[in-house]
Amino acid sequence: MRLLFVLMSIAVLLLVTVQAGRDYYKILDVPRDAPKNQIKRHYKKLSRVYHPDKNPDNKEAATKFMEVADAYTVLMDDEKRAIYDRYGEEGLEQHKNGGHGSPFQNPFDIFSHFFGGGFGGGHGQPQERRGPDMQVMLEVTLEDLYNGASIDIDISKQVVCDHCHGSGARRSEDIKTCTACGGHGVVIRRVQLAPGMVQQIQQQCDKCRGQGKVITHVCPACAGQKVRRGNEQYNIAIDKGVEDGQTLVLEQEGDEMPGVIPGDVVFTVSTIPHPVFERRGHHLYTKQTISLIEALVGFEKSLTHLDGSKVKLQRDTVTQYGYVQTIKGAGMPHHDNPSHHGDLYVEYQVVFPTHMDKDVITLLKKGAHFPPQQTPLYQEL
Ligand SMILES: [Zn+2]
Ligand SMILES: [Zn+2]
Repeated sequence: MRLLFVLMSIAVLLLVTVQAGRDYYKILDVPRDAPKNQIKRHYKKLSRVYHPDKNPDNKEAATKFMEVADAYTVLMDDEKRAIYDRYGEEGLEQHKNGGHGSPFQNPFDIFSHFFGGGFGGGHGQPQERRGPDMQVMLEVTLEDLYNGASIDIDISKQVVCDHCHGSGARRSEDIKTCTACGGHGVVIRRVQLAPGMVQQIQQQCDKCRGQGKVITHVCPACAGQKVRRGNEQYNIAIDKGVEDGQTLVLEQEGDEMPGVIPGDVVFTVSTIPHPVFERRGHHLYTKQTISLIEALVGFEKSLTHLDGSKVKLQRDTVTQYGYVQTIKGAGMPHHDNPSHHGDLYVEYQVVFPTHMDKDVITLLKKGAHFPPQQTPLYQEL
């Protein structure tokens, strides 16, 4: 009986342990096959949301902030991620006991690698340094501006090294307190001004260049530079009716540098010229050619619009060269109210025949009436 109880307790304990294992993919809201740039992007987004500076006295947010940092550390490390995928969090614990130290990093260290110390403006916190904004031209087709679109774009930028997370060291154990300054970053030098008169001068430590820390083994991936060039993929939503020259901002996604808050990526919409339509504000313009016969007797045609729909072009009287027909509501959608459209202006250009038969000229001179389908006015017909 007693044995059964013990066995049951162990079973319950095991169950609890398994359930206590955290789902890092769920925490970062990424699929199990998520690439590193997606993991990083989600980390950056979530860590900003849950940072204690933004959620004072909020225990839940503090826990989430820790969790996203733990998930980020593990999923960004190929070895740790492989262990986690196979054996879960427990596997990582055992791996740690293998002498590699904690599998996690200080969440505030990771955060500061991306964004500097915190959000600034807090209690006596120094003003954070912020990197420059990055300007990117976003070339968009008129179809996408008419229909709305979601555009994938690759941006080459400086990123924090994902091997050392911006520390520049091979491992966290390779970061040592500077012995020359005792970690203060400054040294006191005594200068004798005159016999018996000594002044103390505070100087930046040469050995650690004021960092207070020295790295014994640099990170092999970035050679201790803390950053590298990288490509990041973004998905930009283009709303219907977005205007040329309009800017779309991705906050704090500019070049990364440890200890510096990244600037924004500012996309400027640039419309790729369209072969059929020209946009002027909310209106669209197009030039259509018609034959001389069509100009004289009328026509019925269809024009393929930017959403693939057909616009009926119909005239049943004489159309002068350069005549502009207005089709109400067939222009661009208004950005602020996409159900409202501008107008479509169709300018007709008449193609004249290059050659006329003598018979036709004679008939015309006589002012005779003739049905066009029997006596073509020009040779192409
Ligand atoms: Zn590195
Ligand atoms: Zn030093």
